Amino acid sequence: MGHVIVVGAGQAGSSCVAKLRNGGFDGEVTLIGAEPVPPYQRPPLSKAYLLGDMSLERLFLRPEAFYADKRVTLRMGTEIESVDTAARTVTLPGETLSYDELVLTTGSTPNRLPASIGGNLEGVFVVRDLADVDAMAPRFKQGAKVLIVGGGYIGLEAASVAAKLGLDVVLVEMADRILQRVAAPETSDFFRALHRGHGVDIREGVGLDRLLGEGAVSGARLTDGTEIAADFVIVGVGIRPGVALAEAAGIEIDNGIKVDAQGRTSAPHVWAAGDCTSFPYRGGRIRLESVPNAIDQAEVVAENIMGAGKDYVAKPWFWSDQYDVKLQIAGLNSGYDRVVTRRVAADSVGFWYYRGEELVAVDAMNDPRGYMVGKRLIEAGRSPDPMAIADPATDLKALLKA
Ligand SMILES: Cc1cc2nc3c(=O)[nH]c(=O)nc-3n(C[C@H](O)[C@H](O)[C@H](O)COP(=O)(O)OP(=O)(O)OC[C@H]3O[C@@H](n4cnc5c(N)ncnc54)[C@H](O)[C@@H]3O)c2cc1C
Repeated sequence: MGHVIVVGAGQAGSSCVAKLRNGGFDGEVTLIGAEPVPPYQRPPLSKAYLLGDMSLERLFLRPEAFYADKRVTLRMGTEIESVDTAARTVTLPGETLSYDELVLTTGSTPNRLPASIGGNLEGVFVVRDLADVDAMAPRFKQGAKVLIVGGGYIGLEAASVAAKLGLDVVLVEMADRILQRVAAPETSDFFRALHRGHGVDIREGVGLDRLLGEGAVSGARLTDGTEIAADFVIVGVGIRPGVALAEAAGIEIDNGIKVDAQGRTSAPHVWAAGDCTSFPYRGGRIRLESVPNAIDQAEVVAENIMGAGKDYVAKPWFWSDQYDVKLQIAGLNSGYDRVVTRRVAADSVGFWYYRGEELVAVDAMNDPRGYMVGKRLIEAGRSPDPMAIADPATDLKALLKA
């Protein structure tokens, strides 16, 4: 049945090998990852794990024994240096391995601040890998001053943990409002108020001019000329898809490794899944940065390696935890022109995004029912009357039957 090599031992890579074995694939399976630990969940890195509420063991997606039991050769701490798609080989330090099918699940790389503005000073962190979080965690001491650069979900989650642990938190966002790239002003307003209520100093519409310090960071100068002191800095300014290996191998890139609906790249016998890909979606092409996408797409790739011939149909959803608020997002809000507010209780609200008459996404804060119903309606291509959504007396579940 041949040898499947999966490069990138993260969420997608782990899901792919598990699905291969659970689906009865009997050939050789090798999972290779640059990090020194078995595949783990990233979402808790900026939530429960950083807060100290979750152990390392619980972070792992599967116990290490799982891989041996399933006859998956797990090679950790091993970075693949190159792929030869003609010879069907991958090269790692001092070794070349042959594959019959190759799956690239290389994830994404966090953007860093350039050294020219102090990005290389000691005490400046990104939040991507376990090692990043283990390195910053000892700094989370009551009274310490942290500057967070970037008001996206990662920055806001880090701010939430820091505020909960009693740090003095300043968050700067260059855009006019936090979450501008991903959410409506209503959602930004909700989270701004939440953070300010917990003492976070949120500054919007102001960028970072440069970080200050000799060797180690001691503060920052903002674009409005203000200087602030900081014991350490967390940078959450987006990620780039991990395309370097594929690109060097001559595989087509289009805002990520370009795959077809079944997960095939432009090179024969090479597949890709997860954060590193862009794939067909509703007549266009998208790239998603989320756990559900990594799992579902990787599982479809595994099935297709076994001959299923199945298309991946993404059903986007996402979540974020900040303080005692659970945000759940269904759908994609791109192109929305109207937001309908459904307030269920003082701390429970949903923002429903419409594009014309079509419901395209829901942001639900402490509103699991709104999220669940919204998700099912969006997936079914059904759009309830906005007036009914805005009325808290409307029985949402009845909309599913209507
Ligand atoms: C702090 C944080 C919080 C998040 N919170 C949420 C959330 O709440 N909800 C949600 O849905 N998503 C969340 N995400 C996003 C989610 O974790 C990712 O979308 C998901 O991990 C993507 O899985 P992946 O397998 O594609 O990539 P990854 O999990 O990043 O795995 C890729 C792996 O490939 C390895 N690799 C890359 N190149 C090579 C190479 N050449 N050789 C060997 N190995 C290589 C990398 O080291 C990495 O371990 C969060 C992410 C972070 C960082």
